[in-house]
Amino acid sequence: MAPYGIRVVGDPVLRQRATEVTTIDGRLAKLAEDMIATMYDAPGVGLAAPQVGVEKRVFVYDVGDGPFTIVNPEIVEREGEWAYEEGCLSVPGLSWEIVRAKRVHLTGVDLEGNDLSIEADELLARCFQHELDHLDGVLVLERLDAATRKQALKTIRELGIGPSVLAAAEPKSGGFSLR
Ligand code: ZN
Repeated sequence: MAPYGIRVVGDPVLRQRATEVTTIDGRLAKLAEDMIATMYDAPGVGLAAPQVGVEKRVFVYDVGDGPFTIVNPEIVEREGEWAYEEGCLSVPGLSWEIVRAKRVHLTGVDLEGNDLSIEADELLARCFQHELDHLDGVLVLERLDAATRKQALKTIRELGIGPSVLAAAEPKSGGFSLR
C-alpha cells in the first residue's frame, strides 16, 4: 500500500505556494522515499510534495531512468514550445493537450545538499514544469484555455472526482508531515 494518499482537485493544499526547504535531513529523505513509493503505486512519472499534503518545495520523478528527488527547484531558462497530452495524479483519469516549453534548465538541490543543474527536454522538461507548477499552487487545469477549463470542471463535477477521492486521500500510515 502506498505510504500516502494523493490529494485531488478541490483540496486547498493544492492551491498553496509551498515553502522552501531549509533543512535537508533524514526526515526529508524519508518524505522523498515515501513520495517515490506513492508515485510508483499510482502509477505516475512525477509527484510533488503538496500532492501528499506536505507544503514543501520538493518533487520526485522517474521518466524511465530511475527515481530522483529535487529540492527547492527553479526553472531558470525555458525554450521552445511543445504540445503534448498531459494528465495529473491529482485530477485522476483526465488529460489534455497542453503547450509548454520544450526545453528547460532546472536548478535545485539533491538530498545530499549538492547543487543540481539539469538541462531537460520533451518529457522530462514537461515533468519539471508540471511539478514546479504544483509547488506554486498551480494545477494543470489552470494551463487550459477558458473554454476547455470550463468543460474540464464540469466533467470533474460529473465524475465526482473531488469529494469521493478526497475521502480516501488522508494519510494512511505514519502520518508523517513536514508541515
Ligand atoms: Zn500533477
